[in-house]
Amino acid sequence: MLKLTNTLTGNQEEFEPQDGQTVRMYTCGPTVYNFAHIGNLRTFVFEDILRRHLSSKWKIKHVMNITDIDDKIINRSIETGEDIKSYTAKYTAAFFEDSAKLRIQKPEIIAPATDHIDDMIDLVDRLLATGYAYREGDSIYYRISRFPNYGRLSRLDRRELKVGARIDADEYEKEEPRDFVLWKAPKDPREPRWPAPFGEGRPGWHLECSAMAMRYLGETLDLHCGAVDLVFPHHENEIAQSEAVTGHTFVRFWVHGEHLLVDGEKMSKSKGNFYTLRDLLEKGYDPLTIRYLLLSMSYRKQLNFTFEKLKESQAALDRIKEFLFRLRTANLKPGRDPDLAARLVAARQEFEASLDDDLNTSGALGAIFVFIKEANEALETGRLDEQNRAEITDWFKVIDDRLAIIPPMEHPVQDDKEVEEIEALIERRNEARRNRNFALADQIKQELLNRGVVIEDTREGTRWRRK
Ligand SMILES: [Zn+2]
Repeated sequence: MLKLTNTLTGNQEEFEPQDGQTVRMYTCGPTVYNFAHIGNLRTFVFEDILRRHLSSKWKIKHVMNITDIDDKIINRSIETGEDIKSYTAKYTAAFFEDSAKLRIQKPEIIAPATDHIDDMIDLVDRLLATGYAYREGDSIYYRISRFPNYGRLSRLDRRELKVGARIDADEYEKEEPRDFVLWKAPKDPREPRWPAPFGEGRPGWHLECSAMAMRYLGETLDLHCGAVDLVFPHHENEIAQSEAVTGHTFVRFWVHGEHLLVDGEKMSKSKGNFYTLRDLLEKGYDPLTIRYLLLSMSYRKQLNFTFEKLKESQAALDRIKEFLFRLRTANLKPGRDPDLAARLVAARQEFEASLDDDLNTSGALGAIFVFIKEANEALETGRLDEQNRAEITDWFKVIDDRLAIIPPMEHPVQDDKEVEEIEALIERRNEARRNRNFALADQIKQELLNRGVVIEDTREGTRWRRK
């Protein structure tokens, strides 16, 4: 039974899709005005793990929006002289490139805001008709005083909202300072705008998620995710907009991912600790190592990103790779060692139970590494048999479906001549070692490494593989 922490109640609750079959899930997507930073990407990796785990139990219909219209995008596109479509297209493409490098699966439906303006206009129309929205100047606002549940998700006191909070950073007149904008009249002649019955303009940011979530997933979603900083005001406003027109619960489970810190501090350009995925790849880090680090901590906890931890992540992935290499190439006797088989069953249960426990990824990784240690010992003492190998290989396929952290195994070398050369070098190295000429042995090992060949000395002799 899967348990998730529901922000709406603050409790861990048992999750099941409302129809028992298909999970209807919505995640807030990127605002495509720049490259995604690793804090953003942590959220998308967490949502990917959740998606993969849900998919192991039920069908899934996952919708993600692309915010391709907002103040920042408009300002940048005016500065650069590009229209917003071409300005945002390159960052949308970059986002999916980065996601693919991090092995993040694509949602079933990707919904760019500018392709759904009609749905948003329709929603504003309905909010106007029911008195939840009002006109002020040429813009349309949401009347928060009409919606008594406002603040429930973020547990904000209503009075607190009234006096202090700046809910929307726009400069228009409003009935109350906390009301938020639904439809903005253009201020600058160069701004993009759409015609609407209530006057031309463009949607406020919160509107798109309500309109597109309900369009594709119906009035009540099973699951809505995002980073914690979206709880207020974004998700609070989504609830207000959606429930005002439907009268039903908009989302059954709100699940929010915690922040990422870098070296213990909030990431910021001025502190010089701001990284996009591209920055890290340029420094020579592998995307899989970055994925591993991003998922190594439960989504409910802040993750402190450091370069030391990247190194540890690389070492952890190397342990997996070394183990799978040994497993694949070992000469095994037929049969099935019952003790090791029982250990495998226990490890698989521990892995599933950890993920079911509010997506405890660190617990799931723990189960993998405890088992690797046991299996390595079994290999060394001849207690891992052919049937064990088949069962372990199956489990690692499951792990890769669920966490997508299994390093690629190298392709076998095709060229016989090259194989001969490599094996001749290994033989020379072994001879050098027998003669205790370790300097020469190391030199040959380095030569092999330079050719992209890694060697490993085992009980059964020296094995080699492509790096
Ligand atoms: Zn959203």
